[in-house]
Amino acid sequence: MLRCSFCGRRAVYHRRYAGVFLCDRCLIKSVERRFRRAINENKLILPGERVAVAVSGGKDSVACMHLLHDYCRGKRCELVAITIDEGIKGYRDESLPIARENAEMLGVEHHVVSFREAFGATLDEMVKVAAQRSTGLNPCTYCGVLRRSLLNQAARELGADRLATGHNLDDETQAIMLNYIRADLSRLYRLGPGYSPRQGFVPRIKPLREIPEKEVALFALLKGIKVHLAVCPYASGIHMEVRDFLNSLESNHPNSKFMILRMFDEIKPHLEAAVPGFEARGCESCGEPTSSTLCKSCELLQGLGLMRRRKNLIFVEPS
Ligand SMILES: [Zn+2]
Ligand SMILES: [Zn+2]
Repeated sequence: MLRCSFCGRRAVYHRRYAGVFLCDRCLIKSVERRFRRAINENKLILPGERVAVAVSGGKDSVACMHLLHDYCRGKRCELVAITIDEGIKGYRDESLPIARENAEMLGVEHHVVSFREAFGATLDEMVKVAAQRSTGLNPCTYCGVLRRSLLNQAARELGADRLATGHNLDDETQAIMLNYIRADLSRLYRLGPGYSPRQGFVPRIKPLREIPEKEVALFALLKGIKVHLAVCPYASGIHMEVRDFLNSLESNHPNSKFMILRMFDEIKPHLEAAVPGFEARGCESCGEPTSSTLCKSCELLQGLGLMRRRKNLIFVEPS
């Protein structure tokens, strides 16, 4: 029997990059500790703040909500959850009830915002139109841009000081590599544990970015948290190639992912001079913040013959 390097109980996990074995209890404690350290060291959340968390129902976002719930209780912070329903049949309709169930169990206020309500079409419908019109853009482009924009609007309407997402170490290193490959300096610059606020944007935070995907999954499993485990049916292309490449790199050279992250964090402060300044103004179609006349969401929607509705996403009961 393999034993935990810290307490001697039965090990459930081999943390190769550190050369140690962990039992269930020590793994849970370690994830919780890293989560709190990421927040405290980077001042991601200040006492008394209102925090919105994006919850899809997948393991990362649900684990993030559970961890934030604990954290917020101790810091007099308020937590509210947002789920974006992109309209992906057989996928989001299955994960959404899991997000709701977890929020209810924790007593966290939960809001669902759908693509159909905001844009007049589901992602599935958009993908069909994009194929008919040969836009040459893949589903992840539409989904990523539109989802981020709705999350920001919803968090802002909810009066949130921070918008937390469940990005783990694997997601973050993938994003770093992708932005290198695409030579997208301003996107690369926007990555990090927390992103400095610009007018109209709720600062985004990623408290799980130093925790490997496997450890987040094990944490959820060992804590008995109910999560949705399916992979998005649209996942394909370069994202998957980069993910596979990073996984094989990590298995032959443990610690590679951490090194990529650390290197990026060291370079980041020096990128500022190379990134053009952002002058926020309102998109002339939807009013959301952007640096050009039309925001990226409206630009994509226009190409599909759609328009974003100028209206509040969050319905608040009149008091
Ligand atoms: Zn142990
Ligand atoms: Zn717009």
